[in-house]
Amino acid sequence: MFGRNRERRERLEAQQRWEAWSAGHVEPPLGPDTQEPVAVPVVDDFLPPDLRLPTREELAGMLMAHDLPLVLDGEVRACSECGAYRNWIVASTPDGVWLRCPAGHEQVEPRLDAAWYNRTSGPIIEQHATYEECLRFLGH
Ligand SMILES: [Zn+2]
Repeated sequence: MFGRNRERRERLEAQQRWEAWSAGHVEPPLGPDTQEPVAVPVVDDFLPPDLRLPTREELAGMLMAHDLPLVLDGEVRACSECGAYRNWIVASTPDGVWLRCPAGHEQVEPRLDAAWYNRTSGPIIEQHATYEECLRFLGH
């Protein structure tokens, strides 16, 4: 799924950079000598407003696939019920970060938090109405 989503993800990242930049530049920036507005970058192929995704704060929870083993405190995290250690779904919710193994066992992982999730997950690429839909999208 990563290859298929790369172009879209890069576009979202460009949009986020643009929005972050725009937020800090309400006035057109001025050149040092000319007092004329300097060129403002034009971003092509912008997503229309109805395709924009909500901010993280607006979501009930976020999921990502984590196919590689998760190493926590120097140990590979394994499912306590079936021993699976790869192909996790990681969920960030107001109750904490949850891990779901390929067999569907779900466990909260107190060593992970929303900050870790945000560092690891990259931008939001899809929005789903239900947890189950999102799981299906991620291949579980
Ligand atoms: Zn399991």
